[in-house]
Order: sequence, then structure tokens, then C-alpha cells
Amino acid sequence: MLYEMAVSIETSRLLGYKALDAIVKGHPDARKYSCMAKVYAGEACVKATYNAIQIHGGMGLSTDMPLERYYRDARLMTIPDGTSEIMKLVSGYTLLGKGFSAYT
Ligand SMILES: Cc1cc2nc3c(=O)[nH]c(=O)nc-3n(C[C@H](O)[C@H](O)[C@H](O)COP(=O)(O)OP(=O)(O)OC[C@H]3O[C@@H](n4cnc5c(N)ncnc54)[C@H](O)[C@@H]3O)c2cc1C
Repeated sequence: MLYEMAVSIETSRLLGYKALDAIVKGHPDARKYSCMAKVYAGEACVKATYNAIQIHGGMGLSTDMPLERYYRDARLMTIPDGTSEIMKLVSGYTLLGKGFSAYT
């Protein structure tokens, strides 16, 4: 579990840097990379905090530890500023091009 957390943190960071670099350079794929970074990093936070609670068993759910708070905070990441589902639809649009949009 710790390995998966560490890899997902590094991958989130690299995707975030890639998206930022594309935005700064005005790259046409900036939107796609931004969506990928937001979805991946947000869902990685949810998985990491879920597993952090699991590792600690019942204590992980107790308010004596900060983990349940971290989990609720992480859950937030997949909703505001574009839900994961909407970010995936935007990415899908940039992957397939006009004519294949799942929304108008
Ligand atoms: C803590 C917090 C802070 C916020 N801050 C701001 C802010 O500062 N400014 C601001 O403007 N808004 C803010 N919001 C609002 C936020 O942007 C919306 O909650 C978010 O865009 C989702 O909209 P909704 O809640 O109406 O859900 P809905 O749009 O009703 O979506 C409900 C669910 O359906 C899914 N869904 C919707 N359409 C589709 C589709 N076509 N295909 C597949 N799935 C779909 C969504 O992904 C979601 O899972 C905030 C929200 C929260 C929770």
C-alpha cells in the first residue's frame, strides 16, 4: 500500500508538471493534460487516504487520528472545479476530436 501511495504521488506530481509546462508553452494539448492531472491526482488522494485508514484498522476511523479528516478532504478533490466525470469527458473530446464529443 505504501508503495502504491508513493508511486501515485510521484505520478500525480509529474502529470501536474506536464500540464503546467503545456499551459506555459500554450501547447494545444494543455487542456487534455490538465484534465488528466486533476482526475489522476484527485483519485490518487482518495485511494491513498482510504488505504491509510485501512492500514490503521479501527483506529484509522477514530477522530483521535487525523486520517478520517484527510479522507474527507481528499474526497473533495474529485468534485469542485470540474468533477472527475466531466474532466474525463473533456479529455475524451481532445483525444477523439470534433464529432465524437460526449457533450455539447
Ligand atoms: C467544497 C466545494 C467548493 C466549491 N467551490 C466552488 C467555487 O468556488 N465556485 C463555483 O463556481 N463552484 C464551486 N463549487 C461547485 C462545484 O463546482 C460543483 O459542485 C461541481 O461542478 C459539480 O456540480 P454539481 O454539484 O451541480 O453536481 P452535478 O453537475 O449535478 O453532478 C452530479 C454527478 O453527476 C456527474 N455528471 C454530471 N454530468 C455528467 C455527464 N454528462 N456525464 C457523466 N457524469 C455526469 C458528475 O460528475 C457528478 O458526479 C464547489 C463545490 C464544493 C463541494
